[in-house]
Amino acid sequence: MNERVKEKLEILSDAAKYDVSCSSSGSNRKNTKGGLGNSNGVGICHSYTEDGRCVSLLKILLTNHCIFDCAYCVSRRSNDVKRAAFTVQEVVDLTINFYRRNYIEGLFLSSGIFKDVDYTMERLVRIAKELRTKHKFNGYIHLKAIPGASDELIHEAGLYADRLSVNLEIPSEMSLKKVAPEKNYKEVYKPMNYLTGAIQGFKEEKTAIRSTPKFAPAGQSTQMVIGATPENDLTVLNLADNLYQQQQLKRVYYSGYVPISSDNRVPTLKQPPVIRENRLYQADWLMRFYEFKVDEIVNEVHPELDLELDPKAAYALRNPHLFPIDVNNATYHEILRVPGVGVRSAKKIVSARRHGKLRFDNLKKIGVVLKRARFFITCADKEFNLLGKDPLVIRQIFTAPSRQKAGFNQLSLFG
Ligand code: SF4
Repeated sequence: MNERVKEKLEILSDAAKYDVSCSSSGSNRKNTKGGLGNSNGVGICHSYTEDGRCVSLLKILLTNHCIFDCAYCVSRRSNDVKRAAFTVQEVVDLTINFYRRNYIEGLFLSSGIFKDVDYTMERLVRIAKELRTKHKFNGYIHLKAIPGASDELIHEAGLYADRLSVNLEIPSEMSLKKVAPEKNYKEVYKPMNYLTGAIQGFKEEKTAIRSTPKFAPAGQSTQMVIGATPENDLTVLNLADNLYQQQQLKRVYYSGYVPISSDNRVPTLKQPPVIRENRLYQADWLMRFYEFKVDEIVNEVHPELDLELDPKAAYALRNPHLFPIDVNNATYHEILRVPGVGVRSAKKIVSARRHGKLRFDNLKKIGVVLKRARFFITCADKEFNLLGKDPLVIRQIFTAPSRQKAGFNQLSLFG
């Protein structure tokens, strides 16, 4: 690799680290004769950084030059940073070389906007097209769909990429206008809507005509920056829910605002809101896999997620009248709501109780975390649970480990 490309790689991979929407799940592109790689090598190339971000893909920007001036973004026009831009060929060569060495399982490619939206999008598409058609590359490709790009380019991108993401960035249009004056929701929803329709259309066609080509088989995702603007968790989760329901998004990613900017349009934070980001992911998980509605997690009375408790425990403690449930009679939906019971455990409970009444021992074997669940369930054993406990007391028990840990850290700091 020549020195200039190396330097570009340093600049443009560093600039890409703020985009968190890069999980490679959901695609199943197999290798072909004379082709290179596949995108479903589970366990081979996935790895995550300490803060949970996926690093198994070559994650870069095509350029960090940008004609826009979004206050929360390190690449914004007014920021004084070192700039660089790859050529189409450089990105193609890097991807192929890194893939052959098994450094990566695919490519995550985003970009600042040089010249105009379509000019940038056309280059992103060319890279994906060249990888797929010239190099028969079957690894994973995640492309950023630039808000406002033409339907033709978005369509072409869908033919070569596994996943596309259009970033909503800010959870309300009013705030978006303040911090990113050149952007608006209409331009963001335009490619998003196009993709929703096209993904669905291709899926339907595929059931009738098997030779129909793949179109963004891993669907589309988006990212919201959290903490740069004043929206509460209720607004954020309502928006995410809407994106899952209306736009059929595969994932919504929440990126705690990293205070990189001295721009007075965004707050000066000491550190990114990491705990809030984590709670939003937990809440999102409850919505997608645990049949939770947004207003069960946050609502007008409790518009913010509890930072001390995970959202499922917070829900259970806010609704003591719904507990305890008897695991031998409760519905699957009710069992899913018990802290300490995961989706797999809930399914196993429903199946195991057909063969006899369940006791705490059975639940333990099934994988239920009894130290949490015991406050919210009854079963064939009478004595084990600690029902009747005040939610405040249970809250203290649940939050004690983190407090103890904080105390321990303090002791070790001063000890
Ligand atoms: S358009 Fe994208 S790259 Fe450009 S400043 Fe805004 S967020 Fe950053």
